[in-house]
Amino acid sequence: MSARSLNSGGDAKGGFPAGGLLGLAVMAGAAGLGLVLAWQAGLFGGGPGAAARRSAAVYASALRAEHQAFTEVYLRHEARALRVGAGETLAGLLARAGAEQAATNAAMASIVDVYNPRRLRPGQEIDLFFLREGDAAQLTGVAFRSEPGATVTANLTSSGAFAAREVMMPLKFEISRIAAPIEGSLYATAMARGATDREVAALADAFSYDIDFQRDISPGDKFELVFERFYDDAGDTVRTGELLFLSLETRRGARAFYSFQAPGDARGDWYDADGKSARRFLMKTPINGARLSSSFGMRRHPVLGYTRMHRGTDFAAPTGAPILAAGEGSIVRAGPFGTYGNYIRIRHANGYETAYAHMSRFARGMRAGARVHQGQVIGYVGTTGRSTGPHLHYEVLRRGQQINPMNIQVANGRNLSGRDLELFQAERERIDILRHARDSEATEAAAPNARAGAL
Ligand SMILES: [Zn+2]
Repeated sequence: MSARSLNSGGDAKGGFPAGGLLGLAVMAGAAGLGLVLAWQAGLFGGGPGAAARRSAAVYASALRAEHQAFTEVYLRHEARALRVGAGETLAGLLARAGAEQAATNAAMASIVDVYNPRRLRPGQEIDLFFLREGDAAQLTGVAFRSEPGATVTANLTSSGAFAAREVMMPLKFEISRIAAPIEGSLYATAMARGATDREVAALADAFSYDIDFQRDISPGDKFELVFERFYDDAGDTVRTGELLFLSLETRRGARAFYSFQAPGDARGDWYDADGKSARRFLMKTPINGARLSSSFGMRRHPVLGYTRMHRGTDFAAPTGAPILAAGEGSIVRAGPFGTYGNYIRIRHANGYETAYAHMSRFARGMRAGARVHQGQVIGYVGTTGRSTGPHLHYEVLRRGQQINPMNIQVANGRNLSGRDLELFQAERERIDILRHARDSEATEAAAPNARAGAL
């Protein structure tokens, strides 16, 4: 933040033609600061002779006077950081900060040329710079992060107008490896270590066939993500590229998947070390599981697993969370259905059906006879029918009888073979080398400390 303030001051200085009153003040302030630093660094310590000492004393007193004048100018520059309030516009924020109407208008007129201020979200930080003259404070600069990796600055020029520009910050790239125990929730843990929504959603997606995300994930379970990461000077993730590897270790066991696109496939998929697809006939968690492992709703109403009495699985989730078709099939029923509320039932192969209840609403096109593919959004979580709070009630039926989704025994999923398997094994090896390279980096970083400890 302070680096950006200084940059912004530098920009303002550069923007002024020589002789501009404000420009001189800012330059004087900056020069004064430089002299103070030189003074403190002992650059004007004086020579060995008396004359030299005298002239050094004169020079020092001159410097002190200059220093005082410059410091006063410098101190008149005020930097403030404000956060955008709920429903607040950028112009509103400038007014709240004490900017005059004319300066606000001039700043806004320049900013809209490079950025749409409506894109600002509540809570975002805006840096403001003022020149204080007695009780009045003149707005001289505005700066904020316009998007990850980019900053918008607007600076007052000597003509009284503002000049705005958007600056892209240079990004660094790495293959990032996160291997950590889950603390609180999988989602929060991954985010705190530099992953984004994309990686966490992909992990939840790949494991939705194996794992009941509401009941099978507990604190201390381990996960790993290996992905391409672009980050800024502050180390913050700006964007991520390809996701290469993911694994999850729960009480149901450990599984790891490698990203691989077989020749002729439209897109990549997840395969275990033996080349078996992560996909299965039906999902065990037909909802984005990444956020389910958090404590959301757990305390608000009972979240039941499959029992003989209950005959379904409940997932507590916020109203509006997308519900996914657990497998490919055709809809046999979509509409209100007694205590189930808004309800969809899908017929799959092999005599299986799945049912989804209490939806707030249906996705477009959901009616009897419609085909759905696995993972397609069919509706949204709600609390219609007999329900104590927003949740998805999910049933798997086999020949008309509800069964426990954890007990589905259908051999399926793709197994790579032949040339595809050879290509996959080469790719798996490359990914493992990248993973282990991250391992050795971590080891090397730890080693010097270990040696120091031994001394
Ligand atoms: Zn239920």
